[in-house]
Amino acid sequence: MSEPAKTYKAAVLTAQGTPPTFTIQSLPLPQPGPHEVLVRLRLTSLCGTDCSQAAGHLGATRPVLGHEGVGEIAALGSHVAALFTSLSSFPSSSSTDTSAPLALGQRVGVAWTRDACGTCAYCTTLHHDGETRCVRRPHSGQACDGTFAQYTLVPARYLLRIPADRFGAVPDELVAPVLCGGVTAYKALKTLGSAAGGGQLSPGQWIAVSGASGGVGAFAVAFGRAMGYRVIAVDAGRDKGEYALQEGAEHYVDITGDEANQQDGGGVASAVKALTGVDKLGVAAVIVCAGAAAAYQSAVEMLAPFGTLMCVGIPPPEGVFSLHPLQFIGGGVRVMGSSVGTRRDTLEALEFVSRGLVTPAVQWAELKDMERLMDHVVAGKVRGKYVINLDKV
Ligand SMILES: [Zn+2]
Ligand SMILES: [Zn+2]
Repeated sequence: MSEPAKTYKAAVLTAQGTPPTFTIQSLPLPQPGPHEVLVRLRLTSLCGTDCSQAAGHLGATRPVLGHEGVGEIAALGSHVAALFTSLSSFPSSSSTDTSAPLALGQRVGVAWTRDACGTCAYCTTLHHDGETRCVRRPHSGQACDGTFAQYTLVPARYLLRIPADRFGAVPDELVAPVLCGGVTAYKALKTLGSAAGGGQLSPGQWIAVSGASGGVGAFAVAFGRAMGYRVIAVDAGRDKGEYALQEGAEHYVDITGDEANQQDGGGVASAVKALTGVDKLGVAAVIVCAGAAAAYQSAVEMLAPFGTLMCVGIPPPEGVFSLHPLQFIGGGVRVMGSSVGTRRDTLEALEFVSRGLVTPAVQWAELKDMERLMDHVVAGKVRGKYVINLDKV
């Protein structure tokens, strides 16, 4: 492997706002600290959360956003090989230089969670996979620079390795979208069916995905289908329906359509319930991927007895919705939230891609067009995920 260059290109956020502004800049190559590795990123995809960060909805950010990056290890910090023996012995998938340390060239993912302190109340609650909620909030674009760049630093203790023997045949453009959008959808579904989530969901049951054509929603439809659930997709606009059905939904409910607005006067929720078999009792779970309070409000009404509302999409701070205690007391409903996934969850989600059960829809894009790309994502104009080749910056 050749020596890393002295500088690298990145899309730098020059002003937060709506719209935000970016410029492509050359930045000095960082040196890995004793416990870090330098990653040469090859490809990144764009997540809706990047747009929220750029708009300023999530507070102050680092200059470089992005958290769906794929690349390979380019250099090790001075203590890494001694502390992490698996790194010094891990076979390289691409290096032909036999004198180089074997870890160089190892394919890795760089996602939202960039580290875990290992000691806080979240990190130490292992049965809830608490590391993704680490109290230090070590997130891409917040605590450290993200993946809209050709290089980034990663703590060796929190590397997300993508082993060549399991995923060598999956191209970067199908790996990257899974690192946040895909694993977030997968984790929400996995939790609903797991002991930690009450285990109340079983294959064959109806679920609804609200915001079904978005970056996470489309994955929730596809993973839901692949995991054996019967999926009703909900979104705004007739044109979104074709995409949702293509991703694996059995039905599509357009919240702007006549069906949703006439059904017994009950709106979207009645339209969804009417699709759930002879009893029309509702769905066992709604995964709300839309970041709108109205989506949450109608989702509550879609639930069958003992149904679960799974919160994933993040509305703006004023985006609250109301619940009456009787919905819990009489209806036995539950409300849960899910946030990204662990490194293990990510590899599990990638197995679905590797087996051809879930195939991320992607559109190629360029880093220099970040302002326009974000505009399209915010406006819901993109079908699938934008993927950016970082070698062509
Ligand atoms: Zn922690
Ligand atoms: Zn994301």
